[in-house]
Amino acid sequence: MRLFLSLLARNRLALAGGIVLSFVVLLALVTPLLPLADPDVTNTADRFKPPFSEGALLGTDHLGRDLLSRLLWGTRLSLAVGFAAAIIAATVGAAIGIIAGYYGGRTDNVIMRGVDMLMAFPYILLALAIVAALGPGLMNALIAVAAVNVPFFARNIRGITVGIAHKEFVDAARLAGLSDTRIILTEILPNVVPVIVIAMSTTVGWMILETAGLSFLGLGSQPPQADLGSMLGEARAALITNPHTSIVPGVMILIIVMSINLLGDGIRDALDPRLRSGALSRPMAATLVKRATPAPEPREEGVLTLTDLETQFHVGKRIYRAVGGVSLHVAPGECLGVIGESGSGKSVTALSIMGLVASPPGVVTGGSARFGETELIGARYETLRSLRGDRVAYIFQDPLATLHPLYKIGDQLIEAIRVHHSVSRSEARARALKLLEDVRIPNAESRLENYPHEMSGGMRQRVGIAMALANDPDVIIADEPTTALDVTVQAQILSLLNELRQSRGLAVIFITHDFGVVAQLCDRVAVMYAGRIVETGPTGAVLERPAHPYTKRLIACVPELGGGRRELHAIPGLPPAVDALPPGCAFAPRCDKAAEACRQGNIDLAGTGDRAVRCLDPEAPLTEAAE
Ligand code: ADP
Ligand code: MG
Repeated sequence: MRLFLSLLARNRLALAGGIVLSFVVLLALVTPLLPLADPDVTNTADRFKPPFSEGALLGTDHLGRDLLSRLLWGTRLSLAVGFAAAIIAATVGAAIGIIAGYYGGRTDNVIMRGVDMLMAFPYILLALAIVAALGPGLMNALIAVAAVNVPFFARNIRGITVGIAHKEFVDAARLAGLSDTRIILTEILPNVVPVIVIAMSTTVGWMILETAGLSFLGLGSQPPQADLGSMLGEARAALITNPHTSIVPGVMILIIVMSINLLGDGIRDALDPRLRSGALSRPMAATLVKRATPAPEPREEGVLTLTDLETQFHVGKRIYRAVGGVSLHVAPGECLGVIGESGSGKSVTALSIMGLVASPPGVVTGGSARFGETELIGARYETLRSLRGDRVAYIFQDPLATLHPLYKIGDQLIEAIRVHHSVSRSEARARALKLLEDVRIPNAESRLENYPHEMSGGMRQRVGIAMALANDPDVIIADEPTTALDVTVQAQILSLLNELRQSRGLAVIFITHDFGVVAQLCDRVAVMYAGRIVETGPTGAVLERPAHPYTKRLIACVPELGGGRRELHAIPGLPPAVDALPPGCAFAPRCDKAAEACRQGNIDLAGTGDRAVRCLDPEAPLTEAAE
């Protein structure tokens, strides 16, 4: 709630709307207490007094009634009717929508066709027809305005409910034996309330206008009772001779509707969780780059070389140092493993390379990423776009989330190819078929016509790999591609990647949290902790003689089949929060060897050749010769 209010306050226009609206509402609330003239007492001797005249601050109307008094009483009435109509429409509409969406089938059909019939009438005409049937009067105008707005709410809420009613947590509630009523009240309703509030906040202004419209036509409030619409209606005859009688209610309507709409937009933005960390704006096409110093020269050779890459998330005043100076390189045909606990910055490092970190809040604050001779950090969007998926391809963890659910596998592969190459559709299709065969999908020809949900997890991941291979890239960045799969499929996928790497000379950056996988696949390995590399070296050397206590602990976590009984040690404690990193070694709080010196200053990644460690007291010497 505090977050919601602070987000709302950050939106200047919404804040202004909120303040103005509160003021108007407050004024309407205290109207009976103010020393005002009676709004309905006529005094024809004082007709059409101009504003600021003696005894009538805003002047008088055609019957000599005090305009200020009528305006305040009228505003009170218009607001009350508008809000009441909105609440009635929202309640009835939401109830209809939830019932239709939750029960589905015939209930849904009958209800929604009824709603459709209401929607088929022009809006204002329907309201007029309802008032004509019920007879003029403010109460009937309220009913009419509420009724014509019910379909809008019903449609909206039904759509949301249909989506929620099939979610796993609703199934779980059903399995737990909850009744339909309980499920609707405790599982569905809390999830649609934000939508109801948003829909209401954006339609209240509209409903106040509609009520005013009916009153203007003489169908709402009846004389002598004033509301904003009837005041406008009565002033119409004197529009030219005494414009102030129209301007006074007109300006009030403008103020009310404008402030409600500004506030409503603000509420909608602040309630949308996707906009929360993004400071109310959409992510940009490429990650924002704000470097204090120019890109450093790469110190190592490779197709892809990262040098001191730094990526942060700026959320409000907080700075999350997700990647704090990472240097990596990988050569053609080589596989580099990047390993670390969840949250150590592996994914953010990988996404930073191609400018794929969502910005805001992501910012690359330093370092360089070279693909061949091309600097990728801060490169023009067109440069990045032409390389993404073509020269540097990604394989992500969850293949179901990365494949489009509504397109066939074949079409998605063909699209991936044709984005970067101008080939005919049939040529692209032939290539897609070949790709599916390469990743060993049985019956590839017929699989082209499948949708993602018709395949198993392992098959979808193969499609993900096929898509990454579609344009014969030079580098593949695989971000935990086998975490979602079972071990046998994982083994198949790994050997497939390995084969492809050798046959095509691919450079692979393989991100994982599993040392077993690294041992099987990678030539070299880099161990990450809290956004920095703490140890790197050839896989064999690191596995045999881990130098960093963290690496040693990680390796001890891997069970060995047939290795006899041995206790598996979890690493005590948790990784540090990256918005409050301790000085010195980030692992020190969890390390049983940590000394005073470990907790201060910067500890460098020191070593020789391709072996290096960021530790003052390594567990083992880096080179065998030194033993
Ligand atoms: P992993 O190594 O598991 O792939 P990530 O690279 O995804 O870890 O995340 C690294 C760190 O960045 C984590 O501590 C995470 O909390 C932080 N982080 C990621 N995305 C955001 C974000 N949008 N806002 C703030 N912090 C983030
Ligand atoms: Mg990750």
